[in-house]
Amino acid sequence: MDRARRQAYLEALGVRAWVRRDRAASPEVVEPAEDLESGMVTPGGPPSAPAGGGFPADMLRAALRGDAPVAPIEAPAEMPRDEPGAVAAPQALSSGGAAGGDPSDLDWPALADMVAGCRACELHRSRTRTVFGTGAQDAELMIVGEAPGADEDRLGEPFVGRAGQLLGAMLHAVGLTRQQVYISNILKCRPPGNRNPSAEEAAACQGYLDRQIALVQPSLILSVGAISAHNLLATDLPVGKLRGRLHRHPRGVPVVVTYHPAYLLRRPEEKAKSWADLQQVARALRG
Ligand code: SF4
Repeated sequence: MDRARRQAYLEALGVRAWVRRDRAASPEVVEPAEDLESGMVTPGGPPSAPAGGGFPADMLRAALRGDAPVAPIEAPAEMPRDEPGAVAAPQALSSGGAAGGDPSDLDWPALADMVAGCRACELHRSRTRTVFGTGAQDAELMIVGEAPGADEDRLGEPFVGRAGQLLGAMLHAVGLTRQQVYISNILKCRPPGNRNPSAEEAAACQGYLDRQIALVQPSLILSVGAISAHNLLATDLPVGKLRGRLHRHPRGVPVVVTYHPAYLLRRPEEKAKSWADLQQVARALRG
């Protein structure tokens, strides 16, 4: 992507581009600061800006090749399960909370049919339609969000509202399209009023997402938002502590955590951090 086009996307995102002083006379977009010696990417600004995290680029590339360890997350077994905001208890990967049985051996059409008819939790009563997932079924990058909102519930597709438009713009800015990635959510039905999913709802729906991950076999999962990260990684740490580190899904897929686009719409000053996360992901996928 040429610099002018990328800059236009960045401006649309509200990500402040900075320019090296010695190049101020001929402005160009400079990517979020990268310390080339350490290989660390510092989200959100020039090298003099406070580091907001960052993981070694080489580590991510190695993890994608499967020849490097990934830092474990904090012990999930010690987390409270019954308190408000607690994450869903991890289910066995071979089982799945499903209305009509175990989705773990289903192909794409059968899985979509099972989700469309699912009544495994109370959310089936209030949904307009289920929101299965969209994109390339053999994508290198899988993006996992939280749950459908009002637009998604109406249209049956994930990330189609304002947050989805922002996600699409961010993908474009790193040279990806929605069609090149696979996008899904922790929940396939909208919680009323966009409330957070309960642990029981997330657990009931987990088998579907797990089967999607098994079918896509992505090289990397980008987990957007706390609900997604908490359920994928069985942790209750805030996104601010989870991003900038490399995690691993129980299926072995490396996971990068960043902010949900809806949060970025409320807190635009955080966009640069997610932009840095996405850029690092795109670089790693390009090898
Ligand atoms: Fe089924 Fe998931 Fe919808 Fe609950 S949210 S009814 S488990 S598809």
